[in-house]
Amino acid sequence: MANQQTIDKIREAGVVGAGGAGLPTQVKVNASVDTVLVNGASCEPLLSSDPYLMEHEVETLVRGLESVMECTGASKGYICLKGKHAGAMASVRAAAARTGGKIEAFELGDFYPAGDEQVLVHEVLGRTVPEMGLPLQVGAVVSNVETVFNIARALDGRPVTHRYLTVAGEIAKPMVVKAPIGMPVADVLALAGGPTISEYRVVDGGPMMGKVIPDVSRAVVTKTTSGLLVLPPEHNVVARKIMEPARLRNFTNTCCCQCSRCTDLCPRHLLGHSLHPHKLMRVFANQEMDSEIAKEALLCSECGICEKFACPLGVSPREVNAQIKRVLMQGGVKWQNTGRELSTNPFRDERRVPTSRLIHRLGISAYDTHPGYAGELTSSVVHIPLRQHIGAPAMCIVSEGVRVQCGDVIGEIPEKAMGARIHASISGVVESVADGMVTIKA
Ligand code: SF4
Ligand code: SF4
Repeated sequence: MANQQTIDKIREAGVVGAGGAGLPTQVKVNASVDTVLVNGASCEPLLSSDPYLMEHEVETLVRGLESVMECTGASKGYICLKGKHAGAMASVRAAAARTGGKIEAFELGDFYPAGDEQVLVHEVLGRTVPEMGLPLQVGAVVSNVETVFNIARALDGRPVTHRYLTVAGEIAKPMVVKAPIGMPVADVLALAGGPTISEYRVVDGGPMMGKVIPDVSRAVVTKTTSGLLVLPPEHNVVARKIMEPARLRNFTNTCCCQCSRCTDLCPRHLLGHSLHPHKLMRVFANQEMDSEIAKEALLCSECGICEKFACPLGVSPREVNAQIKRVLMQGGVKWQNTGRELSTNPFRDERRVPTSRLIHRLGISAYDTHPGYAGELTSSVVHIPLRQHIGAPAMCIVSEGVRVQCGDVIGEIPEKAMGARIHASISGVVESVADGMVTIKA
């Protein structure tokens, strides 16, 4: 039985999954498992904030992990990271050694996507999560580094008000910073010396799974902003993310030669899941959305290996899957688990994609500079979205003209809904509440 007091503190502090879509963390830790994994794979190229936290804030991280273990009844905890982050590895090993074997450092291979929850569970525990399943079903909870760090702070009564993130790419001073939630992205870029090119696009997140920000002048840092990558508009990473759906379909119909290389290298397929991206390319080309094969798209993690590494012709099974998924989800179609036993592909180890080769293929070697921590940024104005997580948007509980302190609750979870609290990230006066956003001026 999970510890209710811990769950309440996590909910009160507004902790959400910092490494993904922002699942409210009180939902994830309300579980009973034997193992907790801290996901420090940091497998998206160019992002460095998690290794920074593992190296310099390891005691807080271990405290957070111990709390999650106690909350879920887990007897074992692993902090999982890559050996190439030598400073972080040394800190984690030393801190783990002080726990008497309760917590261990687990060294991951340097491949992508080592941080995919299902891949991580397989690497560390040798257990295979069911198709469309959760690590919970095989006795594990997986939580990202910054999430566990925020859990420790939540237990000290400190809410989530800031985010650690990497600024990289075509920027004068690449850096890792701690920014207040709601800080304008344009201001973060300016404090990093500004873009080094006049025409650019900004990716929120990593080059593989991050999203191109449609309008930088309106974008802000949120609880899930792990990085801001400044890239030329014509860069391979950007161009693939913003291809028009009609162009994508033409491209798919005319280019895919059904070589099945995307399937051969798909990490979920290699775990034994019923996912065959090359077959989904046929489904998409023929618009057979009601076929049984179409449902396989629901198993896709959108990791991008097929699109950015496997396909020799530059086609995008990832985007095709995303589009099929959208159609199926709108129609209420769900994956039916057959309960069949999943067997790992015998060539899985050889087919894992080395990060160094991926970086080369993406054309981002010049940006792979491992920037250091440049400190905490301050902002004279923040625009804090009431929805930064999976679930219902928070209900605004402040109005224009009200004075708030950093850490005050400004958005509450609606009654009986799944959601996350939102807090003021600077002290000041609420200037406006509009379009799901609370603007505070210092
Ligand atoms: S999408 Fe690319 S890798 Fe996949 S079958 Fe088609 S051509 Fe081959
Ligand atoms: S994005 Fe491609 S490689 Fe990744 S899980 Fe989906 S189909 Fe597989």
